[in-house]
Amino acid sequence: MKILVKLLAIGNQHCSSHSQQRKLMIVNLGALLMMITTLVFWLLYLMINNPLLVWIGNVQMSCLVFVPVIYYLNHTGRLLAGCLLVFISAMVSTLLAIFLGQGTEFKTQYFFLLFAILPLAMLQRSQWPAQLLLVISNLALYIYLDVYQWPPNPELLLVPQSILNLIQIAVICSCVSSLMIIQIINERNSELGERDLEIMANTDPLTHLANRRIFMKLLQQKLQQAKSKPAWLLILDLDYFKRVNDEAGHECGDMALIQVSKLLSQHIANDEMLARIGGEEFAILLEHSDNIFERCDAIRQSVAAVPLIYQSHTFTLTISIGLCQIVPDDNLHTLLSRADQGLYQAKAQGRNCVVPSIQQA
Ligand code: GH3
Ligand code: MG
Ligand code: MG
Repeated sequence: MKILVKLLAIGNQHCSSHSQQRKLMIVNLGALLMMITTLVFWLLYLMINNPLLVWIGNVQMSCLVFVPVIYYLNHTGRLLAGCLLVFISAMVSTLLAIFLGQGTEFKTQYFFLLFAILPLAMLQRSQWPAQLLLVISNLALYIYLDVYQWPPNPELLLVPQSILNLIQIAVICSCVSSLMIIQIINERNSELGERDLEIMANTDPLTHLANRRIFMKLLQQKLQQAKSKPAWLLILDLDYFKRVNDEAGHECGDMALIQVSKLLSQHIANDEMLARIGGEEFAILLEHSDNIFERCDAIRQSVAAVPLIYQSHTFTLTISIGLCQIVPDDNLHTLLSRADQGLYQAKAQGRNCVVPSIQQA
């Protein structure tokens, strides 16, 4: 399984976007499927033991020399060339099988229908000229061969009809299963893409905490449950944070935000929430507490206890916390303004302290 994952990821490092990575994965998968299909048919021909079929199988097997070249091209960043070689080798191998004696006896022309669909899954939209060329050429080959047919070599007709039927079924199953596998992987890829986008939209890129957008959304949901469960909102703001940036630079300020976010997350249970809701402002929703003030003060102390060391600078970081309990009549606005009121008082009282709001909802 690990080898398969590695094989499908060959060339990933050269992709500039997730969507390009996913297309490359389909190209690598396409080369693998071509190898498996050729091998399965070769074994089938060996079992049938018809000299013409064995010869065609051998010729098709020799087309597999392109497979390592495809992976090499992808590995070295020549992704378009790698993708085109998948199509060229698959088309050449199929044409050889038809013209060397199989004719259209086994409905081998259906592979061209498959090759006409795959450029859409394997190439990027910006590579539309190559896409168009592959779609048109494969469709033309399919239509020509299906309408006019190509007679098989008479030697093939020595094979019993039941075996010929079996090969025809194998060809059709191979086309359908290849399409299904690629469709399943594509579907899974687009689900992963959606999930990535959702995570990005809800995450603060610096601290990897939830951002303001998702915090407010979840807080709104919590408000509806406020009657059944006690919960508290904390707004936390770093004290004199501007000084850190001014004295040691923005990078040091960023490090401080990351350090504080890690310390804060140590205090949060799985069903509670922590978010970075502004520059140096965090919000926490707590649900488990016999003594909420003690719990908030422990959070405050843990931040103050770890100095920030950056190059020759050492800072003691402290936070001020505004605290309020969520009550059934609260809406987002009343709740946030009460927590802000607590924070405002904490700043006014000299900072590095926790102040519960005394305002009513
Ligand atoms: P107070 O105790 O009153 O809160 O003082 P303060 O200096 O923390 O408050 P002020 O609002 O004056 O400054 C906040 C600073 O936070 C200013 C801004 O440059 C800095 N800041 C906001 N976001 C970021 C960030 O993402 N990275 C860094 N490095 N600094 C940030
Ligand atoms: Mg501040
Ligand atoms: Mg602030």
